[in-house]
Amino acid sequence: MTIHWQDLTLGDVYLARQRINTLVRRTPLADAPALSEKLGAQVMLKLENLQGTGAFKMRGATNKLLSLSDEERARGVVTCSSGNHGRALSYVSQKLGVHAVICLPEPVPENKREAIRKLGAEVIIVGDTADEALAYADKIAEERQLTMVSAFDDPFVITGQGTIGLELLEDFPQIDTAIIPLSGGSLLSGISLALKSAKPDLRIIGVSMERGPAMVRALEAGKVVDIVEEPTIADGLAGGLGEHNHYTFPLVQKYIDETVLVSEEEIADAMAFALNEHRLVVEGAGAVGMAAILSGKVKKYGQHVAVVISGSNVNLPLLLRIAREHGLG
Ligand SMILES: *Cc1c(COP(=O)(O)O)cnc(C)c1O
Repeated sequence: MTIHWQDLTLGDVYLARQRINTLVRRTPLADAPALSEKLGAQVMLKLENLQGTGAFKMRGATNKLLSLSDEERARGVVTCSSGNHGRALSYVSQKLGVHAVICLPEPVPENKREAIRKLGAEVIIVGDTADEALAYADKIAEERQLTMVSAFDDPFVITGQGTIGLELLEDFPQIDTAIIPLSGGSLLSGISLALKSAKPDLRIIGVSMERGPAMVRALEAGKVVDIVEEPTIADGLAGGLGEHNHYTFPLVQKYIDETVLVSEEEIADAMAFALNEHRLVVEGAGAVGMAAILSGKVKKYGQHVAVVISGSNVNLPLLLRIAREHGLG
């Protein structure tokens, strides 16, 4: 392990931004009047559902690929992913002419598998859980001399996601609270690194689903623990932390101020709310921040709240069913 988690600084996030600038979009920040009224505070939405490939994962994947040596790039990369990371890595790999191998567990929906194949990556469907797919990815990384690109536990992935924090500081300088979807923790770690370096008193709230919240269970236990993976509408947040976590667990532990867990129903309500109120397509994982506010579960917050809307890659029949069930058509 060459880089220690405590070595990461705001400067690394700025370096990440310089690297990824031309390939990654600066996403808009939108007013959220109904959520503002609900909280009695100014609420703004950071729209990473409008990022390339439909999720913020582009930032970390791009930063990682551009940090590799020419030799490493020539050999190729491998990852396992619940979908969005694999999709982002495939997209950037194709742009940069790097061979990408993506290992996906069985439960990843067909729309996400197909999107990755279309981007020219080699897709291997293996195992029932993210942890099993990860074990296989590790094995072929060794055998085929590929660089493993973790979906979350990598310093370059973390500082790449952290560039969202820089945009928030510039576009919303009053920000005092950030509500962030939480799974493996690269999104929360990176954004917190940027925001809390600039504003140490800023409040960081992480939101996971009630069904299999790996990082929240790890925080409670004080160490990474095995969780039972359950099917969830927030499939982008599913999965364990792997056996050996070096970065995101200590970083999340350091920065997080509050955790919120939301139910399947609350997530569906938030997806329908995004569609109806904001005309936005948001996947379950991307909607958990709005769900936390709408359900009244956020305990403590300031006057200027940013909610990270992390992705849009929802299976369309599912979204249409949710819309109908909420009387939207
Ligand atoms: C990956 C992902 C997350 C969670 O990010 P972590 O860095 O694993 O915590 C949230 N939302 C979406 C849409 C994602 O793809």
